[in-house]
Amino acid sequence: MKKIQMVDLKSQYDFIEKEVTENMSQVFETSAFINGPMVQAFQADMEAYLNVKHVIPCANGTDALQIALMGLKLVPGDEVITSDFTFAATVEVISLLKLKPVLVDVDPQTFNIDPLAIEKAITPKTKAIIPVHLFGQSAAMDSILEIANKHNLYVVEDNAQGIGATHTFSDGKKAKTGTLGHVSATSFFPSKNLGAYGDGGAIFTNDDALAHFIRGIVNHGMYQRYYHDVVGVNSRLDALQAAVLKVKLQYLDFYNERRKEAANRYDQYFKNHANLIIPHRAADCDSHVFHQYTLRVLNSDRDALVVHLNKNNIPCGVYYPVPLHAQKAYADDQVDSRNFPITNQLVKEVISLPMHSELTHDQIDYIATTLLQFFN
Ligand SMILES: *Cc1c(COP(=O)(O)O)cnc(C)c1O
Repeated sequence: MKKIQMVDLKSQYDFIEKEVTENMSQVFETSAFINGPMVQAFQADMEAYLNVKHVIPCANGTDALQIALMGLKLVPGDEVITSDFTFAATVEVISLLKLKPVLVDVDPQTFNIDPLAIEKAITPKTKAIIPVHLFGQSAAMDSILEIANKHNLYVVEDNAQGIGATHTFSDGKKAKTGTLGHVSATSFFPSKNLGAYGDGGAIFTNDDALAHFIRGIVNHGMYQRYYHDVVGVNSRLDALQAAVLKVKLQYLDFYNERRKEAANRYDQYFKNHANLIIPHRAADCDSHVFHQYTLRVLNSDRDALVVHLNKNNIPCGVYYPVPLHAQKAYADDQVDSRNFPITNQLVKEVISLPMHSELTHDQIDYIATTLLQFFN
């Protein structure tokens, strides 16, 4: 059996080596390393895949979030509501822009932001909500969009973990995550479902004026060469990464299908175990693309389970071990930890197993049986 890894980019590369090399040679031949035809071709493919009007590539997912917020022209002190249980980048950019992050608790089943908690946190200063499609599962977007509509708030989706997921609205309509709110951000970090061979990110929106404004922001606030209308940043997707992403985008649905199959196989082992809760799928499986396969470990010692797996050459992850409200950088005296009962519980219980498109049945069976031995 092949060595088990959290993500196995090398095995994936072996299948697409020829196409990647050809695309990269094209970039070397044209020597258009910044912007240029490869970036534009990837952008167009991505727009078609998502069925969204504008994809604006940038340097990484954190930049994408920051730039999306800059595009909304929020002013210092404006409040932005987001999840207490996510990667720090989501809240980091809010603070960097001198906006006020308002963290709220999550749903115990999906681990996604709790719409009821959002409503309770709204004040006259609230301007935006950032739902995160955590671990690859669409947040409760029907309720979130309804709340945003009612209170006139922007919705900025953090789609870094959800690329390729389809959200089914209560009326049956379907759309890809990242195209549901006003603007959204994604990451092409190598381990993401659509990963480059280095850093990359993108902003998506259906709003023409916002797209135009953002295209200037990513390019030093320029709308006409050497005329700087707003304070911008320098954030670009480099052409070599676009060359990789253009190949991998063709396989994204296949990769995500493979992830779902792996998740379903894991489920068979864990679904009736008294100490384990398998990942919940809200409504339909299309809404979950399993960026992570995350179990809750009940009435047991999660950290000892991590040690047990590692001892048996099985890597695993704890995403995330600390709630954001308890992180030094984001701790706020006025925030009461008792407002986050779910997150406080999840950080003690969650464990994420190896998950990628090249996991074999043998590997999954070995991981699952080894994990179950822990409880015997
Ligand atoms: C990965 C990730 C980001 C940041 O993406 P980078 O490309 O690493 O900057 C932001 N939010 C979430 C939820 C992520 O998982």
